[in-house]
Amino acid sequence: MNKSSHYDYIIIGAGAAGLMLADAMLKDDFFSGKSILLLDKDSKQTNDRTWCYWEKGVGQFDAIVHKKWNAIYFSGKKFSKRYAIHPYTYKMIRGIDFYNFVFENIKVHQNLYFKQTKVTDVIDIGEGVKVVTANENYIAGKVFNSVFDYGMATHQNKYPVLQQHFVGWFVKTQKSVFDPAQATYMDFSIPQKNNTRFMYVLPTSETEALVEYTLFSENLLQKDEYENAIKDYLKKDLACFDYEIVETEIGSIPMTCYDFQEHHTKNLRYIGTAGGWAKPSTGYTFASTARKIPVLLEHIKTEKPLDNLSFKNRFWRYDLLFLDVLYKDNANGHNIFESLFKNRHPQLIFKFLDERTSIWEDIKYIWACPKKPFIKALLSRLF
Ligand SMILES: Cc1cc2nc3c(=O)[nH]c(=O)nc-3n(C[C@H](O)[C@H](O)[C@H](O)COP(=O)(O)OP(=O)(O)OC[C@H]3O[C@@H](n4cnc5c(N)ncnc54)[C@H](O)[C@@H]3O)c2cc1C
Repeated sequence: MNKSSHYDYIIIGAGAAGLMLADAMLKDDFFSGKSILLLDKDSKQTNDRTWCYWEKGVGQFDAIVHKKWNAIYFSGKKFSKRYAIHPYTYKMIRGIDFYNFVFENIKVHQNLYFKQTKVTDVIDIGEGVKVVTANENYIAGKVFNSVFDYGMATHQNKYPVLQQHFVGWFVKTQKSVFDPAQATYMDFSIPQKNNTRFMYVLPTSETEALVEYTLFSENLLQKDEYENAIKDYLKKDLACFDYEIVETEIGSIPMTCYDFQEHHTKNLRYIGTAGGWAKPSTGYTFASTARKIPVLLEHIKTEKPLDNLSFKNRFWRYDLLFLDVLYKDNANGHNIFESLFKNRHPQLIFKFLDERTSIWEDIKYIWACPKKPFIKALLSRLF
């Protein structure tokens, strides 16, 4: 093993979590004398996804925010409404802008090396971790792995594993179709077909938007089912007949309360989606990752075992009941969201989903959900 194959830290995956961790390490003096290797199978030079999140005021990534909205639109089966979301704004970041933003910082640091290669195995060898790639093996004292695989969560059946799965089209229309002042957060007016299905629309102008057909359910659909639903929505709901598909995106985000903790070891920590950082009840991961990175960074600096850190809190229990309900009666998932948006302000909903509410606010939020299915889910978890 040559000298260059040993590092203080290795980060596997230069996606949201890997890059946020790399960036945070580079900005912290504690890591200035340490060698860091960042590995990804991809060059990260394509716009492979769009991230949205809500936030109050100015945020860490404002320099690369592509579009923001001060209002959201929600539609259920029985009512629809546009909501002003002040003091929050709903922000959109393009994947490619985020990758370029962090790689600009990486370029000016000598102690972080990026290598494009596929990792095939990761083994904790006691005094460190061995990372195996097609051509070379690397060893580091501590390794952070953001490579997710559904098998990490589906090998058990104590916690249901749903997916937030979707296909999105960036369309450019001939006529003005969209209202760029509002993001359609959820539109459940579409056929549910025995699942929880909604449209998500992010307009960047009157003639441009990302239109996404999204499900919270157990199994993926055939590609044409997502695409036909987008076509139908554009035609029937938005009266849009002439459009060009500029870009597409596809995704599946795990929605589960399975505790990823068992995968960590003393020297190896899973991060991002692979670390269980996707919010179980929503699939939102970007902002939750940004909040967890500083906590992880402080933990790394203590040099305590990496599996000593847990992010589990009382919101995990709320998410557990929510997913039990959604799993048992997927056809009626829309009722939960409809009831919430009808009875509560989006500001409380955002605060609760950010896990920042007080106990009193938790009760207010939970009280707005349909009672019967949640009580049933609670009783079956208890007994
Ligand atoms: C299309 C899409 C849209 C999304 N939109 C939102 C959103 O709006 N808001 C939100 O909060 N969340 C969103 N998410 C969910 C989540 O925020 C993203 O998936 C986010 O990128 C997760 O970060 P991560 O670092 O865990 O994984 P990733 O960003 O996927 O990073 C993992 C990295 O590992 C690399 N990799 C994989 N296998 C290997 C291997 N064997 N060897 C080396 N490298 C490997 C990949 O190339 C990738 O760069 C979206 C997800 C997708 C797919």
